[in-house]
Amino acid sequence: MNLELTIAKTNEIKSDIEVIFVIDNNLKHHFVQDKKLLKKSGFSSSQDETCLLVSKNRLYVGVSTLESKNLRTAAASACKTLLGTKYKSIKVASYTNKGCTYAMRAMVEGFILGAYRFENYKSKKNESKITHISISLEEYNNVTLDIEKISQQVHKAQIIADATNFTRDIVNTPPEDCYPDVMASIAENIAKDTGLDCHILKPKKLKKEKMETLLAVARASRHAPRVIHLVHKPKNTKQKPTKVVTLVGKGLTYDSGGLSLKPADFMVNMKSDKGGGSAVLGIMKAVAELDLPIEVHGFVGAVENMIGGDAYKPDDVLVAKNGKTIEIRNTDAEGRLVLADVLCYAQQEVKSDYLFDFATLTGASVVAVGHYTSSIMGHNKEVQNLVVNEAHHAGELATALDFNPYLKKTIKSEIADICNISNTRYGGAITAGQFLSEFVDKKHTEKWAHIDIAGPAFVEHAWGENPHGASGAGVRMMVKLLENLSKKSAK
Ligand SMILES: [Zn+2]
Repeated sequence: MNLELTIAKTNEIKSDIEVIFVIDNNLKHHFVQDKKLLKKSGFSSSQDETCLLVSKNRLYVGVSTLESKNLRTAAASACKTLLGTKYKSIKVASYTNKGCTYAMRAMVEGFILGAYRFENYKSKKNESKITHISISLEEYNNVTLDIEKISQQVHKAQIIADATNFTRDIVNTPPEDCYPDVMASIAENIAKDTGLDCHILKPKKLKKEKMETLLAVARASRHAPRVIHLVHKPKNTKQKPTKVVTLVGKGLTYDSGGLSLKPADFMVNMKSDKGGGSAVLGIMKAVAELDLPIEVHGFVGAVENMIGGDAYKPDDVLVAKNGKTIEIRNTDAEGRLVLADVLCYAQQEVKSDYLFDFATLTGASVVAVGHYTSSIMGHNKEVQNLVVNEAHHAGELATALDFNPYLKKTIKSEIADICNISNTRYGGAITAGQFLSEFVDKKHTEKWAHIDIAGPAFVEHAWGENPHGASGAGVRMMVKLLENLSKKSAK
């Protein structure tokens, strides 16, 4: 998408179509030139409602308030409405919340996220034809805008929205075309394009590192596992970054459930089980392109969970990298086994100020909080709140789920140190988080948050700025968080 900022007024800009936001039902605003027609068409200017006036080459979109989240979904709604049309260029005015330029970032994000389609496998494509957006600095409330500031926001928006779409592409790609080695190649390509360091661990090295639980999960697949480690160190700062952040992602490129085989209906869409690892790849791409003044490590455990004569079994006892023994009672609770080893490896390699893991870990999280929200867990309320707040600022939904000692008892094992599933059907998102906590060392306990993105990572209908399928959950929330941490560390 080509984005252009201009001081020219919207009526001086040439484009195929103009997008006009109708704020808080205010049809009297001078941006609205077709009040009568809009009324005739029944347009009620409710949030995200669109009205395309073909004869006028204008598209009106309802927005309830000038808050970023509303502008983001409204802009996405505009692009979705234009899908299938021949319009190639858009012009739009500036909208800020009392001069706060973040709204502009949200609007641009909305345009790029809303134009996303995954059509790699369609013979006849219905991709968005919009390739150019001209943004006039003519502001809705006549606020004088600093072109430098807006241009920075637009630049950031483009990087972050592109990284989100990049993650969506990986998650949407079928398992036969995106298996662990392919994920590793994607990481290598990001490194090549952006200057990140990239290390790929293959089975021989994984064995040497004693990542036996990860290897056990991978054993029945014809696709060998990979562990990816991407490193961002700022290029443009003279002083050393004062913060180090580690990200760990679950990259189950396909999850059949293993011998505890999933029922047919639940096996569909399990390509999305790489949502956490794919988010980590997208975040690393954005962090590198933004060149944030902060050190960030991204680890991904890329594994396929299949069945076969050599599959790992319920009743097996596995030894994780940190020496803890795990009784397997369900091979479909494999994500936590992969994460256990990758978390141990990540902490061995990097001592960090924050440790975040991303995973489509439990159906229980979806039951608890619904499809659209990520569950945030950990031992430190402040870190949990940091993630929840930044998620909201970035336009993602997240809520904290609290650990408690009673649920912790449900993952006890009679024969090993811990069991890979709990003995109760309730509270499964939390018990999975508590399982992971066993693989977070003392130094990182208070610095860790577990982010269960099972709800929003892949939804079979469009919602907000998200399309059917992968949403790229985790990318925007974490880039926003890292941006803020790097501001603090630059001081
Ligand atoms: Zn599973």
